[in-house]
Amino acid sequence: MAPTTEPSSLAELRNVTAGYRGSAILQGLSLRANAGGITGIIGPNGAGKSTLLKVLLGYLRPMSGSVWFDGSDILALPPEERISAGIAYIAQTKSYFASQTIDENLLIGAYLVRDRQLIAERREAVFRRFPILGTRRRQLAGVLSGGEARLLEIGRMLMTAPRLAVLDEPSIGLSPKMVDLVYDEVRKLSSEGVAFLIVEQNVRKLLAVADFVYALDNGRNRFEGSPAALADRDLLAELYFGRPSRHTPDATRAST
Ligand code: ADP
Ligand code: MG
Repeated sequence: MAPTTEPSSLAELRNVTAGYRGSAILQGLSLRANAGGITGIIGPNGAGKSTLLKVLLGYLRPMSGSVWFDGSDILALPPEERISAGIAYIAQTKSYFASQTIDENLLIGAYLVRDRQLIAERREAVFRRFPILGTRRRQLAGVLSGGEARLLEIGRMLMTAPRLAVLDEPSIGLSPKMVDLVYDEVRKLSSEGVAFLIVEQNVRKLLAVADFVYALDNGRNRFEGSPAALADRDLLAELYFGRPSRHTPDATRAST
């Protein structure tokens, strides 16, 4: 075979049908996250975006199809083993412990890591990256602002040294300034070799950072390609204006 310059796939969903209590939400969905890339997923509320991330992480078992990471079929692996293999996840709902200290939250994030020295090193690295967390390490996470808490979630994720970071709506609830800060970190980590798969309601922001994007609607892929190609089409308007959606303002800006 001729050598190819195609980016290599790090994680893949192949022909996945999945849902809840026997009713399919994802309908034969295929998607890949490339090594070293930032892959974006957009789509209206209820499209199945969070569902597909749960399938990738192993929190939801698909009815059919397969899930791949780094060349292996990981369908049989429980979430902890997928995380140990190099996938990290920040869920759409708050995923830190408000009544634990920042220090403790990072240790909890490292519960799958056995080497104490490694845990200590990674925690110090998180504090160097986010000094605001370091200076408040013994305070309860509950005192953090929404944006700082998102940084704590990123820090917690870094405790397992992920190769693929999976983020479900990281900008939700944050001020524009904090959204920029979070995405600056995404860019920085990406340049350090971490691949990203990001579901986002902030379409404009996602199209600005992603190098490949999927648009989901009703559990199906409506588009895959470059952000520029997506912004060129009427699809954004259709996805976000064709039905009632809270997301219309961002879609407007993305399509102009
Ligand atoms: P998105 O993240 O794109 O907004 P979701 O993947 O959360 O969409 O949800 C897709 C569909 O699946 C929605 O109709 C939602 O109501 C349904 N759904 C999500 N989670 C559950 C659940 N735990 N039990 C039953 N239905 C669910
Ligand atoms: Mg969701």
